[in-house]
Amino acid sequence: MSRNFETQAVRIQTERSQFSEHSTPLYLTSSFVFDDAEDMRASFAEEKQRNLYSRFSNPNTTEFVDKIVAMEGAEAGYAFATGMGAVFSTFAALLSAGDHIVSSRSVFGSTHSLFTKYLPKWNIETSYFKVNELDKVESLIQPNTKILYAESPTNPAVDILDLEALSQIAKKHNLLLVIDNCFATPYLQNPIKFGADLVIHSATKLIDGQGRVLGGVTVGKAELVKEIYLFSRNTGPAMSPFNAWVLSKSLETLAVRVDKHCENALKVAQFLEAHPAVNFVKYPFLPSHPQYEVAKKQMRLGGNIVAFEIKGGIEAGRKFLNKIKLCSLSANLGDSRTIVTHPASTTHSKLSEEDRLEVGITDGLVRSSIGLEFVDDVIQDLKQALEV
Ligand SMILES: *Cc1c(COP(=O)(O)O)cnc(C)c1O
Repeated sequence: MSRNFETQAVRIQTERSQFSEHSTPLYLTSSFVFDDAEDMRASFAEEKQRNLYSRFSNPNTTEFVDKIVAMEGAEAGYAFATGMGAVFSTFAALLSAGDHIVSSRSVFGSTHSLFTKYLPKWNIETSYFKVNELDKVESLIQPNTKILYAESPTNPAVDILDLEALSQIAKKHNLLLVIDNCFATPYLQNPIKFGADLVIHSATKLIDGQGRVLGGVTVGKAELVKEIYLFSRNTGPAMSPFNAWVLSKSLETLAVRVDKHCENALKVAQFLEAHPAVNFVKYPFLPSHPQYEVAKKQMRLGGNIVAFEIKGGIEAGRKFLNKIKLCSLSANLGDSRTIVTHPASTTHSKLSEEDRLEVGITDGLVRSSIGLEFVDDVIQDLKQALEV
């Protein structure tokens, strides 16, 4: 098999059935049958690699996982019902009571809740560093620290963390480096190349790309994935075969879709940067981005998320949303449809202003997930919404 990304995305496929189907069929089955008592015994003893029950594995989820493993240059993986299923199961499988996490402060909202509200119930604490303070990371490491965790680019402020620098710290202190690679997709960035041990995706976003199904996946070193698999096979966060079938199809077009998303996003970012009602724009492949050089080093293109700050604070942000006509106001991202959100008045409104500013959410910050519409139409919509 060719190791080229697009070829793997299209050609990695579950073995054909007796019907010689070209496109992989949907295997909606909860369990699988055995030939005889010996087959059943050997299968449960794991002397054979085969499907037993769809909480453990299923041909559709295996095809999806095999593709992500190949795309990320990983050894093994397991697919989950949601991205948060992947995040939680990864921590729950690998950590014990009393362990400690060091994490970037700029993490997905539910991941933040996991660190601050739920993991402490099992005496697992998290220390945070700011995205622009990698030099402080080492001072947070304790004898019981097990995992170094980060997202890049971050949600919603689109900051970039230097994966190679994080991996050097992780190696020096014998920590596992776990990276949420959701915003980049396996097409734009492969954290394992820069030293990550595990990579997590919410497949709900650009991997699905059309806002249809939820999904998550963790890939990386085989011995770690084995622990995550055993935990998950017993606790039940498995991906549905239907969602795996949808998502594996989506991966066939990931490269062409993401190329177009990035082309459109760069044009939108350039338009916004020149607009007088905009204070600043954060897009990884704009030279004005504070971590532009790092983004260029570790990403193929800049992604589809453009963050920008409208002059005039919270009120200006709300007014902008109300004037939007074509784009959608929605909590999702990575959809074929362009989506705009105003974190300060919605997703992050419960945070104190100090906490919001710490993760880069200024009052007028808008997060836009640029879709696949004709880009001038998106720009026209943003332009008329920015008029005062
Ligand atoms: C959406 C998201 C998640 C959670 O994924 P779900 O599929 O919604 O559970 C995790 N990390 C990041 C960066 C996300 O954007």
